[in-house]
Amino acid sequence: MQPKTIYEPFRIKAVEPIKLATRQERQRVLEKAGYNLFAVEADDVLIDLLTDSGTGAMSAAQWGALMQGDESYAGSRSFYRLEGVVRELTGLEYVLPTHQGRAAERILFSILAGSGKVFLANSHFDTTRANIEYSGATARDLLPREAQVPSTILPFKGNVDLAALERSIAEVGAENVPLIILTVTNNTAGGQPVSLENIRGARKIADRYGIPLFLDCARFAENAYFIKTREPGQQDRSIRDIAREMFRLADGCWMSAKKDGLVNMGGFLAVNDPDLAAKARNLLILTEGFPTYGGMAGRDLEALAQGLEEVTDENYLQYRVRSIAYLAEALQQAGVPLLLPPGGHAVYLDAKAFLPHVPQSQYPGHSLACALYIEGGIRTVEVGSVMFAHVGPDGKEVYAQNELVRMAFPRRVYTQSHVDYVVEVLADLYARRHEIRGVRIVEQPPFLRHFTARFEPIAPETADLASV
Ligand SMILES: *Cc1c(COP(=O)(O)O)cnc(C)c1O
Repeated sequence: MQPKTIYEPFRIKAVEPIKLATRQERQRVLEKAGYNLFAVEADDVLIDLLTDSGTGAMSAAQWGALMQGDESYAGSRSFYRLEGVVRELTGLEYVLPTHQGRAAERILFSILAGSGKVFLANSHFDTTRANIEYSGATARDLLPREAQVPSTILPFKGNVDLAALERSIAEVGAENVPLIILTVTNNTAGGQPVSLENIRGARKIADRYGIPLFLDCARFAENAYFIKTREPGQQDRSIRDIAREMFRLADGCWMSAKKDGLVNMGGFLAVNDPDLAAKARNLLILTEGFPTYGGMAGRDLEALAQGLEEVTDENYLQYRVRSIAYLAEALQQAGVPLLLPPGGHAVYLDAKAFLPHVPQSQYPGHSLACALYIEGGIRTVEVGSVMFAHVGPDGKEVYAQNELVRMAFPRRVYTQSHVDYVVEVLADLYARRHEIRGVRIVEQPPFLRHFTARFEPIAPETADLASV
């Protein structure tokens, strides 16, 4: 028998109580927070789907590994364990630990970027783009047109457009392209996977023009699982084997270990080029720490080494990807509009379609996120005009292409009944969607406004749900 129930492939050894607040309490909390979910205290949240970054649960083996941490300043045993694990996985020679992904990015792009340089990727993650642009260089996303439509179902919607990649290289000149980057899975595109065929294609182009290929590999294991289950001819391979091939097609990688590293803090940069490694090591010493600990404690190096061994476990990945797909299927049955297909770490609600009566000037994504919190205590994040709108040449706001609400799942934290509860709340909210009102911004900083802006509901005279 092939069971339909998604049973979590773990038992729970330590539990953390969740505070059960009333709807009225949450209404007060949100008002006090200026209708910004980033300003809500985590204790006031029932199900926290704000991010999957650093929010996962470690295994008993990882907690055990913490006690094995060697806190020596130089030559820590824990570093050599991590180095061994990363080398086995990636085949890359030089391994530099960093306190998180963006520290590796800052080091790498301080060396390779600068004005006139153009980086080409399937999609650059926000911090990657920010580090590239800070140096004066350009970050160009090359997602195929068909992959940019929210409702189009494709198995590898995170792929880079290989023809556009070659065109871009021809246009800007290979000497101005320091790296080709593949983000796996493609976070900005909704956690969508990149196929092995696409990575191989990028490798061929990299070879043809003599440009190194790097993976931004925060979710490499989820990506490998999609390859195994969706790509022809890959079904009989182990996840580890597929992941090893993905990395062996690259000249280097960096990782935010807060995702598939299964740790709460950490990252690394790994490369084959000895000159690049030497330059990176010097910068590492300048801002992160001595090369055998980077920005990490010895115990954290141990936990990460253990996490990188565990994350390619197929039972874990099946539970992970199935629970996300299960949520998406249940929501679709309730008619809730989504970005399709669901990615590896999150389900995205299509707020434009969910709230057609809320214009973009009233931030439908943000309005929906507020309603989800008040109704169900569920914290999500708007990925739409609050985050991405900019001021156009005429001084008017130019709105984002899509108004999405991201529900990102922490790893190994929530169970199927938590997911069922989220479905219940959303189905109810969708049935009463006409009661949800828009919001206006009352206070905002000059940049990255989604973190600290304050909002107020429009039409507060109608009570209850209408007040969001
Ligand atoms: C999270 C993330 C980063 C940045 O890593 P931090 O650990 O948050 O600094 C870079 N790239 C991708 C694809 C990510 O998901």
